[in-house]
Amino acid sequence: MTASRALHARSLSDPAGFWAEQAARIDWETPFERVLDDSRPPFARWFVGGRTNICHNAIDRHLSARADQRALVYVSTETDTERTYTYRELHDEVTRMAATLQGLGVQRGDRVLIYMPMIPEAMFAMLACTRIGAVHSVVFGGFASVSLAARIDDAKPRVIVSADAGSRAGKVVPYKPLLDEAIRLAGHHPEKVLLVDRKLAEMPLVSGRDQDYAAWRDKVAGQAVPCVWMESSEPSYVLYTSGTTGKPKGVQRDTGGYAVALATSMENIFCGKPGDTMFTASDIGWVVGHSYIVYGPLLAGMTTVMYEGTPIRPDGAILWKIVEQYGVNIMFSAPTAIRVLKKQDPALLKRHDLSSLRLLFLAGEPLDEPTARWIQGGIGKPVVDNYWQTESGWPIIAIQRGVEALPPKLGSPGVPAYGYDLRIVDEVTGEECPPNTKGVVAIDYPLPPGCMSTVWGDDDRFIRTYWSAVPNRQCYSTFDWGIRDEDGYVFILGRTDDVINVAGHRLGTREIEESLSSHPGVAEVAVVGVQDALKGQVAMGFCIARDAGRTATEADRMAFEGELMKTVEQQLGAVARPARVFFVNALPKTRSGKLLRRAIQAVAEGRDPGDLTTIEDPTALEQVKESLA
Ligand code: AMP
Repeated sequence: MTASRALHARSLSDPAGFWAEQAARIDWETPFERVLDDSRPPFARWFVGGRTNICHNAIDRHLSARADQRALVYVSTETDTERTYTYRELHDEVTRMAATLQGLGVQRGDRVLIYMPMIPEAMFAMLACTRIGAVHSVVFGGFASVSLAARIDDAKPRVIVSADAGSRAGKVVPYKPLLDEAIRLAGHHPEKVLLVDRKLAEMPLVSGRDQDYAAWRDKVAGQAVPCVWMESSEPSYVLYTSGTTGKPKGVQRDTGGYAVALATSMENIFCGKPGDTMFTASDIGWVVGHSYIVYGPLLAGMTTVMYEGTPIRPDGAILWKIVEQYGVNIMFSAPTAIRVLKKQDPALLKRHDLSSLRLLFLAGEPLDEPTARWIQGGIGKPVVDNYWQTESGWPIIAIQRGVEALPPKLGSPGVPAYGYDLRIVDEVTGEECPPNTKGVVAIDYPLPPGCMSTVWGDDDRFIRTYWSAVPNRQCYSTFDWGIRDEDGYVFILGRTDDVINVAGHRLGTREIEESLSSHPGVAEVAVVGVQDALKGQVAMGFCIARDAGRTATEADRMAFEGELMKTVEQQLGAVARPARVFFVNALPKTRSGKLLRRAIQAVAEGRDPGDLTTIEDPTALEQVKESLA
């Protein structure tokens, strides 16, 4: 038996013994009484009765041995800034932010919404929340006011932390007006808004509500803020993700299970050692940023690199320049970023000394073979695909490099990670599929530590959404199709639901449909994900206009399409803007009135739409085809 298979088998046959050993990787103020409480499936509570604090484990615990080691390297090619913080300095900054939040009335269990660009203060705010037992909810800076308002209403934050502006490819993106508009739209109103002024854009303060962080930072200097010890299953954060309804789901993460799972993954999967430097080129608004820019590397006593910028500015060698300059050992990115680099001069891959780099991890979307081969050949380092989700918080399927370097199979992220009782199941019977047979990628109860504990504020939705999708079996559905080959390698074959993946970002087609439908000129609309060579998928809308006059000529259609794209951009953010909106007179539906999104998607990708026996009006699909022509 291979080492990873043996570890996997042990983690499932003796979960209590296995995870109790892993729990020794972090400090506990009060030891746990039980490793797992599985008395109320599908809920699972890990390290019951144990009290710990993630910020203590990420920072304070390292101060005796690593106070002068770099904890954070910050690089922004948007503002030409480079700054480093030692563990001692990070402790000071996080303490100041924590004291400020307390000064603004934040208490244990309160939510703090963080809507920020990639600046160190965003990370300080996250760590400050976990320090004082507040639940952070980071909202990706690319989201606009309607998306933000929905999250404010669900999380009901006491305080929002934000900034004047972000910057993307050299263009300032003001945040404050979007935030003000979101607060205006939301039913819930935060008591205070704490703002970091980067001096990139105007930042008018709303008197009584808005607070300038610079003043607070000075005011609270030297103030000690002890860590608040949290029971292991108390929430550390909520991170929203798109699903099949228009309402985003708040993925709730616990405290102890998450800290243990991340610390374990740093060694077993990422092969990271204390003192190493990890560069995760993602955004704190996504789960990869939470786990592998902020918490994972710090829990392991490593240096983390936070980067604000694109992979091709000032040129396509910038990521490698950072690797060389800061001696990066482990890098983590998404396939889309590599596909962007593929369009650049390949000589750029050779410009910098990459001798410090050991491994490049890629996740978030399928890694296609040509991209994997290109980057592996180009930098001469092993490329490690890994598969997971916002819900899991850490890799579900990977070659676990810290356990053993199993030979990779191109097109597969590898084998199930320890802790996950992964099954490929038949979506109709719930039975396990034989090797090489397509089924739903599911995880039998319980989910391991670190995975979502529930949907924020809605236990019932957690059960309904994730644990009821597969019949006759108590399992969590990932909503991905997959197959497992005879060697145990899993291949991911796309989503089973209406979620699409654009450049590694997960978007719900329903959210985009709702936004398009809010335009008074739209009668009906369908949004589908369509294959794209660069971004993996892009969103495309097929729309019936209320007034035929709006789509009479090519010029009319172009103008209307532009207006609709702008609507989505303003409401949800540029990240959700469809690549194209086409106009039709009818949409293909079943006789019972359900949109045939899959058939539309197939036609848009030039594929056979398959079984159309339930279609109400076959000419509607013809119209979709013609609109694309
Ligand atoms: P998110 O929650 O935004 O991280 O999106 C998770 C989804 O992205 C998964 O359910 C998959 O559909 C897809 N995904 C993530 N990583 C991979 C991977 N390595 N290979 C294929 N699909 C992936």
